[in-house]
Amino acid sequence: MTVILEARDLKRHYRVKRGLFRAPATVKAVDGASFTVTAGKTLAIVGESGCGKSTLARLLTRIEAPTEGSIHFDGRDITHAPKADEKALRRAVQMVFQNPYGSLNPRQKVADILAEPLLINTDMAKAERRDRAIAMMEKVGLRPDQADRYPHMFSGGQRQRIAIARALMLDPRVVVADEPVSALDISIQAQVLNLMMDLQDEFGLAYVFISHDLSVVRHIADEVMVMYLGRPVEQGPKDAIFSDPRHPYTRALLAAMPRVHRGVTPDVPPLSGELPSPMDPPSGCAFHKRCPLAQPRCAQETPEPRHADRRMVACHLVA
Ligand code: SF4
Ligand code: MG
Repeated sequence: MTVILEARDLKRHYRVKRGLFRAPATVKAVDGASFTVTAGKTLAIVGESGCGKSTLARLLTRIEAPTEGSIHFDGRDITHAPKADEKALRRAVQMVFQNPYGSLNPRQKVADILAEPLLINTDMAKAERRDRAIAMMEKVGLRPDQADRYPHMFSGGQRQRIAIARALMLDPRVVVADEPVSALDISIQAQVLNLMMDLQDEFGLAYVFISHDLSVVRHIADEVMVMYLGRPVEQGPKDAIFSDPRHPYTRALLAAMPRVHRGVTPDVPPLSGELPSPMDPPSGCAFHKRCPLAQPRCAQETPEPRHADRRMVACHLVA
């Protein structure tokens, strides 16, 4: 199993103004994330909105630079890669966004949308770019006779197929997908997930699949990383996370799932209360104000990640 992408203690902090009379705050959007992505496999990153998962996606795709820590691609530190490597890295790690309406240019025909990455990044002739675009349309379940249609002429699910096709035009090794099906009807979600899994097998893609929806994660993930307020709190193989969740936050997320998806019922109440503001996170374990098992030390001491048999858990109660 080859590690294709690795994050080591990644942090992304922002300074934000808070008005005239208050000192600026530091938002720790990502605050120490370490994980590996295996070639050809799917790492799902799970958490509520505001937990730092979209920031993590922007760090991995180099849209933003980390404040601290490093990113490694195929064994090489690419955190501050020279400009000359930028193009190759952009090709190797592609992104699919949540909103297929916003991410496609409404004035471009589908074939042109798909051919554009080839135009920008290769010196391929126009006819070949169009041929490749049409071939990729077929791979994602669209018809060649739809090549000269505009995005608004497609359904939401078809538009997300177009966005996925565009991400694959440059033969990436990794696709970072940020909530790629959450804007779609439930009935369409499984179709797009199954398509992504077929494409993964065909092209040997690794996915970093970002989602708040555990039923979706259960469908597509190989590995799962659960985040809470900028930090991973639990990581491990999907089956282990779903059948034997150890962190109280993971257990609460699973308890909130519809019964049919959940399998084993964790013996904890579902999550209550809101995610605290990342501008003003609780002391100690960031989860302590919502944790049914919190003890006095949880408000004081931040639990360190502990690793044992392919699992990572960061909780004082889990040795
Ligand atoms: Fe709950 Fe304490 Fe564990 Fe945090 S460290 S999850 S508050 S028991
Ligand atoms: Mg797979």
